[in-house]
Amino acid sequence: MLYSTNLKAKEVNIKEAILKGLAEDKGLYMPKEIPKLTNEEIASLKDKAYYEIAFTILIKYLKGFIPDDKLLEICKSSYNFPVPIERLDDRLYILRLDQGPTAAFKDFAARAMARIMDYFLEQDNNELLILTATSGDTGSAVANAFFGMERIKVVVLFPKEEITERQRKLMTTLGGNITAISIDGKFDDCQALVKEAFVDPDLKYLNLSSANSINIARLLPQIVYYAYAYSRLGKVNFSIPSGNFGDLMGGLFAKEMGIPVNKFIVAVNENDEFVDFYNTGEYKNISPSKNSLSNAMNVGHPSNLARLIALYGGIIDEKGIIAKMPDMQKIRHDMVAVSVTDEQTKEEIRSIYKKFHVIIEPHGAVGLYAAEKNKDLRLVCLETADPAKFPDTVKEVIKIDPALPECLRQALKKEEYLKNLDNNYQDFKQFLIGNFK
Ligand SMILES: *Cc1c(COP(=O)(O)O)cnc(C)c1O
Repeated sequence: MLYSTNLKAKEVNIKEAILKGLAEDKGLYMPKEIPKLTNEEIASLKDKAYYEIAFTILIKYLKGFIPDDKLLEICKSSYNFPVPIERLDDRLYILRLDQGPTAAFKDFAARAMARIMDYFLEQDNNELLILTATSGDTGSAVANAFFGMERIKVVVLFPKEEITERQRKLMTTLGGNITAISIDGKFDDCQALVKEAFVDPDLKYLNLSSANSINIARLLPQIVYYAYAYSRLGKVNFSIPSGNFGDLMGGLFAKEMGIPVNKFIVAVNENDEFVDFYNTGEYKNISPSKNSLSNAMNVGHPSNLARLIALYGGIIDEKGIIAKMPDMQKIRHDMVAVSVTDEQTKEEIRSIYKKFHVIIEPHGAVGLYAAEKNKDLRLVCLETADPAKFPDTVKEVIKIDPALPECLRQALKKEEYLKNLDNNYQDFKQFLIGNFK
């Protein structure tokens, strides 16, 4: 069973948690007990393919809700792309999570989540309309993951002027069950429109869901790549470029399940509210969040912080008020928190290229910079996006235009289907009513 981190909603099973997303008390669902892998299971990982490791992990949470053979099939079709581990030198490795269909690590979570939700809806003979606001990567991963599903339709809202052509085309060239809407406004406006729709009684008949990173189904698949890295390299440390801490939580869950991990480096950009909390024990969110080169990590109040604090025995609500302090000593034992400036991010892109002839992008660079600061650790650094998704910074720093991965090359050629709306709730609502029954 799962409880809400605000402790005011009733406990639910994993299927209910996945279909609901957020608990009624605005808390995040957390398993009451994190399942453990047996020693035999841990030892067996080294002989398994990525999708088999995914099955070994996910079945611990989904047993009794999805048949084994169905879940194995879900894992196999979700993870049909490579997950390379590149060795830089004796102590630094890059785990490339950028080879999925939208060239960003959000594919890992979105693809498994989409298939699991689709299975549950088929079981219940039900349908869903997913509304999601995006500043770039999440929307394209979600749209691609749900593309072609019969019971699920997706509406993605994005700020017209604030995303790149490459990001936009990964959402607008799909068509079918995916509707892309550009809004004359900012990301926050898109998010506000979506939030208003969720609580609008006139739209209840649409069975709206969010598929954003608060959903426990986005977190569970992110446990897998830590187990995978362990299976190939043995016990290591991880450096994680972090925003909403979904990725970090995957790592902490992996450790809790029994995967041997030494330390996690929590690498953030100048949105460093967690670093302050780590150092002082006092939490103050950053609002509005600061702009930076690693823009998918411009988060002034990480949504998954509620889960992190809960894992260490504390309570924090959605506004960032701490009702009970977590075990800070244990947090400081398991993690190192590092903040990285834009200048340092660029310096890292330059230095990694110079030393190793490897091209990285700003998010991965934040993680690698933090890793290079911790010289005594053997580290796996997560590279969360393909450099071609952030070509401007890469070009500026190393004067190379990163090669387009196939998925971007294809998307750039295709016709776009999109609708533009004013930043106005009534227009958005009428659009939904007119287009979805
Ligand atoms: C979302 C994202 C991150 C941050 O991940 P969180 O799970 O939110 O901490 C890092 N890099 C890229 C490219 C992303 O899209």
